Amino acid sequence: MKRIDLHIHTTASDGTASPSEVVHIAKEAGLSAIAVTDHDTCSGCAEAIAAGRHSGLEVIPGIELSTRYGVTIHILGYCMRPETRNFAAALDWIVQERDERNRKMCSLMAADGIHADYDVMKVKYGEVIGRPNFGQMLVEQGYAESVQDAFNRFIEKGQKYYVSRQMLSIERCVSVIREAGGVPVIAHPFQYRMDDGRLRQLIEHCMDNGLQGLECRYTGYSQEQSDYLLQLAAEYHLLPTGGSDYHGTNKPRIALGFGDGDLNVPYEYLAAVEELARRNKL
Ligand code: AMP
Ligand code: ZN
Ligand code: FE
Ligand code: FE
Repeated sequence: MKRIDLHIHTTASDGTASPSEVVHIAKEAGLSAIAVTDHDTCSGCAEAIAAGRHSGLEVIPGIELSTRYGVTIHILGYCMRPETRNFAAALDWIVQERDERNRKMCSLMAADGIHADYDVMKVKYGEVIGRPNFGQMLVEQGYAESVQDAFNRFIEKGQKYYVSRQMLSIERCVSVIREAGGVPVIAHPFQYRMDDGRLRQLIEHCMDNGLQGLECRYTGYSQEQSDYLLQLAAEYHLLPTGGSDYHGTNKPRIALGFGDGDLNVPYEYLAAVEELARRNKL
């Protein structure tokens, strides 16, 4: 069976492998196709698509946007036309808010003597800096043992260097992806700790704004959990998707395409997403 991975981060956001390296890793792992889904940017997609063409790996463009619906929710988008005006404007706004948050985190760290210069970070880690990049920096400077340790002690919500950021509304996250011809998908639905009723509320609310998919296979999700999500997707006529959420060494336990070992995303998921994305653009 052809195996794919539709949830991957690169150095364009807070992953540690470049878009070309991600393609190489996927190829070595025997995958048939991948999607690059960096936080808040499509800037890694062109390089990955070119590398994929070179090595015979199908690569589709994607993105992952953060929003709130009581708790923080992530919306994946696939096959957008990135130059679409409202979509591009939304990304600009998000990255600006992210920059503001990041600069505040740098100030808090610098006040404690940590060498946290935001402009240096951008050169080192790329244009879209996420908290895992702060974790990386804290590890490199010897303040934390691992990125996870950095989260636990310094940058998780409630810890001293955590700063919250403004996010796009959930309605807009979903609708700008659709406006750009993309396929919007609720990412990792079990991460939100919602009961069945609340998850259905979330799904229905997103569907009112153009939702078309549900991430049913994800690193660490059991067969029973995936079956439940697949059932929900079928019930709501949403496309199932799946991926590892690979971040390179920033999340060292997650293997591209295989997650924690048990992940298996079938190629058919991608074919359906591409077909729907085509229809979205008619
Ligand atoms: P940001 O959007 O910059 O606030 O960072 C969000 C990223 O941090 C996402 O990739 C999350 O998976 C990751 N993240 C959030 N909380 C934790 C945590 N407690 N441990 C490890 N990674 C986390
Ligand atoms: Zn991330
Ligand atoms: Fe996510
Ligand atoms: Fe992700």
